[in-house]
Amino acid sequence: MENIVVVGAGQAGAATVARLRALGFMGQITLIGEEHAPPYQRPPLSKAYLLGDIGVDRLYLRPESFYAESRIDLRLDTRVDAIDRADKVVIAGGQSVPYDALVLTTGSVPRRLPSDMGGDLAGAHVVRTLADVDAMAPGVVDGARALVIGGGYIGLEAAAVLRKRGMEVTLIEAAERILQRVAAPETSAYFRDLHRAHGVTLREGVGLTCLTGVDGRVTGAILSDLTEHPFDLAVIGIGITPATALAEAAGLEIENGIRTDAMGRTSDPSIYAAGDCASLPYRGGRIRLESVQNAIDQAEAVAANILGADTAYVPMPWFWSDQYDVKLQIAGLNTGYDRVVVRDGGAARSHWYFAGDTLLAVDAMNDPRGYMVGKRLIEAGRSPDPAAIADPVTDLKALLQA
Ligand code: FAD
Repeated sequence: MENIVVVGAGQAGAATVARLRALGFMGQITLIGEEHAPPYQRPPLSKAYLLGDIGVDRLYLRPESFYAESRIDLRLDTRVDAIDRADKVVIAGGQSVPYDALVLTTGSVPRRLPSDMGGDLAGAHVVRTLADVDAMAPGVVDGARALVIGGGYIGLEAAAVLRKRGMEVTLIEAAERILQRVAAPETSAYFRDLHRAHGVTLREGVGLTCLTGVDGRVTGAILSDLTEHPFDLAVIGIGITPATALAEAAGLEIENGIRTDAMGRTSDPSIYAAGDCASLPYRGGRIRLESVQNAIDQAEAVAANILGADTAYVPMPWFWSDQYDVKLQIAGLNTGYDRVVVRDGGAARSHWYFAGDTLLAVDAMNDPRGYMVGKRLIEAGRSPDPAAIADPVTDLKALLQA
């Protein structure tokens, strides 16, 4: 094994190359990314960076010198256009780059509004890249009116920041409730109340008919209830799709993401995938995870497997979101839950998802102890008595010893 090429210089790509060197791989490593910035963290884009609390330097995953010092050939502003699997080369910026092993860490692509719904208007923004947020920044003005389309985590975080920046914020969610795809009604209710308490006009079951504009710039929106409202800025947070086009064109198997086995190997044994773009086996089915935890852990597992570890990656999911003064921490995956146990400790609150007697996941709001205990129980495959969880007097830490 002499040449390892990694396509996509984001969270998973950076973790792959760093782990390859940490594991002692001495050959050639090429990390190719189409963005201008060296690998950076995305979570602050809808949090502290959008708020203006941190600068761009704090986003970078490693100092730029790391790549040269680690003999990693980092090629930025370079898109990989094709994979030639027969000759084992990728075509990037008109050049052929040979590989013995190839890792696809291409991430995901935000869903945009079609142009006939105003998606091309200036002032309509998605929040995926540093460039997206830098483009939005001049429109984030005290007293201006923002429409946030979509009540998932990114839409809710953006709404919280824009509100903190003094904007008048309306958030619409076409589904019956915010966070419907990812959380229980109890968690949706918690964040609905939080946003309303901070003055966001939050409307569920209301979609967008179209953005309206004058001279190519957003001036308002017509909603699905046929009401029309003036806005100066629109944030489009309607989800992402895995970036599979390159893999698909190369004939790799796709199944809601680039299909991998538990080792992270795609349908071509020389090609691996990790991060948002990869779909992996999980509990008899398949999942695709959109989180920093997964991007790092799966990428590190792939690096080890390329070097012969032959170890299955078993995700131990965790996630977080910051909105106003609330830190939400999530441990586990709630897929398949049939009941939610609420632990109401006043300011600290957690929602525990069970399937039968089995604990699947915990949403912890300003409750680091609930999160930590829940995470450790889930990772150990242990399930506490729901009645003990619901009783705020129970010492959660004692459950770990039980
Ligand atoms: P990315 O980090 O997206 O990197 C993929 C890279 O590949 C991109 O730079 C892309 O341009 C590049 N690329 C794609 N195709 C090509 C090509 N053909 N040639 C060259 N380059 C290519 N997760 C959490 O756990 N907690 C959070 O609080 C959280 N908040 C988030 C907030 C925002 C605003 C966003 C956008 C994401 C957030 N996430 C959060 C999700 C998390 O950031 C992603 O899951 C993670 O970045 C995935 O890493 P990745 O390497 O798979 O993809």
